[in-house]
Amino acid sequence: MRERERGPAREIETEHYEAQQGHQGCVVWLTGLSAAGKSTIATHVARRLFEEGSHVYVLDGDSLRQGLTRDLGFSPTAREENIRRAGEVAKLFRRAGFIVLAAFVSPYRKDRDFVRSILDDGHFIEGYVSADLDTCIGRDPKGLYKKALQGAIPEFTGVSAPYEPPLAPEIVLDTTAQSVDQSVHAVIDLLDARGIRKARARG
Ligand code: ADP
Repeated sequence: MRERERGPAREIETEHYEAQQGHQGCVVWLTGLSAAGKSTIATHVARRLFEEGSHVYVLDGDSLRQGLTRDLGFSPTAREENIRRAGEVAKLFRRAGFIVLAAFVSPYRKDRDFVRSILDDGHFIEGYVSADLDTCIGRDPKGLYKKALQGAIPEFTGVSAPYEPPLAPEIVLDTTAQSVDQSVHAVIDLLDARGIRKARARG
């Protein structure tokens, strides 16, 4: 058919993606101190959903800072902009029906609340990945606390910059008390309770 005979293309709405994919889109936003376990949990949940055939994507603070937000530092205003951009990207994925696992320290409550405000009700799940500072320092998988405690990294959350825990997160994942597997199950159970996961995968 020639172009002018085809008529306007119908926009692909979120519901269309969701119907094709067999699950809803949503953003699971994991916040917490560095080394609390955000990326570990996000990766495991994503792998599990991926293997069920779901459309998932992990958005990670570290990887975004290598590209989209590489111009930003760690001052409160730079962090605000970092989370604003990350939130907008998450929103686009969610619109395409993806289940987004977002792992960001996101230390400021108002920045996380902004992301909540741009996503529909019920499609933003704030997960507080909690571990006390001593545990995080003990884990220190990237050696960042060691450097921060020596003063080599300024404005490091938990050491020389504040962290504001969520007041009413949808889920708390205390990684000092529960295993990675338990946290993964807790997230999956919540997705099931919200009717987000593929119906045939729910068990
Ligand atoms: P974040 O993304 O919050 O900075 P990471 O997931 O990169 O944290 O690192 C957390 C580290 O803690 C990993 O090396 C992980 O294996 C370890 N860890 C130990 N116990 C747990 C647990 N129960 N839950 C999550 N991570 C854990």
